Amino acid sequence: MSIIQDMIHRSRETSDSIELKRNLLVLTPETIQFRLERLLPTVQKPGRYTGGELNQVVKDWNSVQTRVALVFPDIYDLGMSNLGLAILYDLLNQRPDSLAERAFSPWSDMEAALRAAHLPLYSLETKHPLAAFDILGFSLPYETLYTNTLNILDLAGIPMFSAERTTQDPLVIAGGHAAYNPEPMHAFIDAFVIGEGEEVIHEIVETHQVWRQSGGPRHDLLARLSHIWGVYVPALYDAHYHPDGAFSHLEKLVDDAPLPVVKRIVARLSPPLTRFIVPYIETVHNRIPVEIMRGCTRGCRFCQAGMITRPVRERTVEEIVTAIEQAVQFTGFEEVGLLSLSSSDYTHILELVTTISERFAGKNLSISLPSLRIESFSVDLMDALKDARRSGFTLAPEAATERMREIINKPVSTQQLLETARAIYTRGWSNLKLYFMIGHPSETIEDVQAIADLCKAVLAEGRKVIGRRAQVTAGVSTFVPKPHTPFQWVPCDSVEQIQAKQTLLKQALRGPGLKLNWNTPEDTMLEAWLSRGDRRMAEVIYQAWRRGVKFDAWKEFFRYDLWLEAFRFVGLEPDFYTHRERPIDEALPWDHIDTAVRKKFLTEDYLWSLRGKTRVDCRERCFACGILPTFADMRRHNPGEVWQCPEVKSKRIPVSQIGKLEEVITGD
Ligand code: SF4
Repeated sequence: MSIIQDMIHRSRETSDSIELKRNLLVLTPETIQFRLERLLPTVQKPGRYTGGELNQVVKDWNSVQTRVALVFPDIYDLGMSNLGLAILYDLLNQRPDSLAERAFSPWSDMEAALRAAHLPLYSLETKHPLAAFDILGFSLPYETLYTNTLNILDLAGIPMFSAERTTQDPLVIAGGHAAYNPEPMHAFIDAFVIGEGEEVIHEIVETHQVWRQSGGPRHDLLARLSHIWGVYVPALYDAHYHPDGAFSHLEKLVDDAPLPVVKRIVARLSPPLTRFIVPYIETVHNRIPVEIMRGCTRGCRFCQAGMITRPVRERTVEEIVTAIEQAVQFTGFEEVGLLSLSSSDYTHILELVTTISERFAGKNLSISLPSLRIESFSVDLMDALKDARRSGFTLAPEAATERMREIINKPVSTQQLLETARAIYTRGWSNLKLYFMIGHPSETIEDVQAIADLCKAVLAEGRKVIGRRAQVTAGVSTFVPKPHTPFQWVPCDSVEQIQAKQTLLKQALRGPGLKLNWNTPEDTMLEAWLSRGDRRMAEVIYQAWRRGVKFDAWKEFFRYDLWLEAFRFVGLEPDFYTHRERPIDEALPWDHIDTAVRKKFLTEDYLWSLRGKTRVDCRERCFACGILPTFADMRRHNPGEVWQCPEVKSKRIPVSQIGKLEEVITGD
């Protein structure tokens, strides 16, 4: 019996989805609304479950061919700040033939109330049960949402396993950064979107419509979807393993299934979204999020986002400022977040900040500029934002010794860091937040001690400038090796190693003006298991959920013991996924997902890191990571500043020259 068949067999023993499904047959939106009115006064923050906010879109259910439920598998308070879902919501609702509505995980009190009332999870806009939609689109930005995803399928009365769904069930798709290793969730998701969703979502909707009209079976829909660039359909492949448990290879079950599956990108970023839904309740970010650029050229070796979101594409200053003006009118928000992986690398950042400051002077609009580089220019930028709050300034050195920062390719000198810190305190900030990671490859206990020493040195700089008002808050997380990065082969620290390092920091970082925040080692283990998991991890996730695991990102819910129990039940060894150093030539469970950054480049970068060899920002020198050969045509048709990769003018890049790309790229 295959892993999936076995899971399906076991799921039939106790699932209450069947009862939910039976209920769905008689539940209309009006019935759900009626029952909610009695139920909502009994739960915390009913505003999470009502919909009806400013700028929500309600379309006539019967006037469209395709209804999509966009689902964030955590609570409303978090999910409403997800920019990707907001963009898809807008795009789908702009189409005359489709609609999009929202759904989020109910908090535990609401879940209990829904189950007690035999109500299925429903969409906020029209209160239709999720099972009534044609497509469910999950956002999976991080792995700790996996058990919540299963819980939502269960609450919706939708069969948990892709293999169990029929033509009557919604198509279940997922995208987001976690989808770059889709294998741990392969049994539950019908199709993954690998990469950017703005264009592919239309092709998915149109494919679904054509399939519906054809009256074909469900596997026909999956086959059609697999032909869309950037869509991965796990059911069309089988995974094989070596006798020692290591992954061997992925086998195509149908001839025309793509292998590898190349990620989807858009050539140009479309104009920013401006008509955001305005929540009734406080959410994590009550602000206008404007993505100023996508991708990053810095090449930090631990950073998955920096590798998978290449190439860098920028928006123009005018586009951004116009969008802010419109969004302020549509929403009334008083804060704007200028989002990107490295804001100070945006080519026109000074012009942008100056223009915004002038255009919005005296209008009570605060601007947040996250992810700044460690240099005094960053302080100038924050200073230029006249209304910027003076409470906290954040820098992320990630490691405290120059040796370690060279290994992770974030080469900043300690001298430069101290100078930047002094400039920050001098310009009026009193609390400097410093982000570090422990557990980097080849880290020693001296490197950890150096975190405490550096924090104290920074505090001493602050005291010289503003006396005892100076504060340093150190946020120390633990490094988790991620797929598609130069560190995808390295072992993760064990619980014991993490505890020893954290104990050192807790003892060393005491005293007035110093504060330390950290993640528990168990949180790190979960992220590490899931990040580099293979298909067998699906059963662990399923068994964990069956035991009551959900809301893994919330400390009040996280049940490490139940995860370990699930591993034991399935017969897998957790350490196999976390602490094992993978040989460089080992096949990896996510090798079939092609981010366009070649494995050869990642391997070379990893070997460079072992020698402490760094790379400069690839805006200064292209390292031929693989992006241009994959997307050469796209770059050729979009010349100029819109991409930060070198221009491609040659008609074709010969395969034999891909490794020497610097030579064939015009002007390099
Ligand atoms: S192709 Fe060159 S410039 Fe573009 S992301 Fe890769 S290394 Fe950087």
